[in-house]
Amino acid sequence: MRVVIVPAPFVATGWGIPTVCVRHGEPAAAQPPVTFRTLVPGGTVLMVIAPLIMMIVVLATEKRVVSPAWPLCARCLRLRALRRAVTATLLGLAGGLVVVAFAALESWGSTVAVAVLVLVAGLWALSRSTTGRIANGYVDSSGQTLEFRRPHAGFVTLVAAAKQHAGSLPATR
Ligand SMILES: [Zn+2]
Repeated sequence: MRVVIVPAPFVATGWGIPTVCVRHGEPAAAQPPVTFRTLVPGGTVLMVIAPLIMMIVVLATEKRVVSPAWPLCARCLRLRALRRAVTATLLGLAGGLVVVAFAALESWGSTVAVAVLVLVAGLWALSRSTTGRIANGYVDSSGQTLEFRRPHAGFVTLVAAAKQHAGSLPATR
């Protein structure tokens, strides 16, 4: 998988962060704040079947890096809005099915089973609708760098230039 590595201080301060988005390399239409996190593989499933274990894993391994302003282009914003709408629909449907299960006393078990499946799908959609996921950015286990997956070449070029510039700066201490 193609990735670009960005130092955490770039993300936290905004210095060296391009004004184009990661995903499409297009000019930012908005720059919302975003909290990037460490990726937990299979996190959504774990959250449903063993929420306590998931919490422990997150507390033990998660590193966070907060960006005050992250570039999202118009297409990124549309994608985020679409994923949020899918999330709201699935979570609403899961809630509706639970109500139906309580109302219909016969065969409520299978309705609840479907509701749980829809809930898992909704939580998965929720995890993919965050700004951090739209940017495909994850903090590494040290918390010192972030990895952005499948970046646009334009974004990669600008990050590489900023890294080179940072490397050529004289030490301030
Ligand atoms: Zn974009």
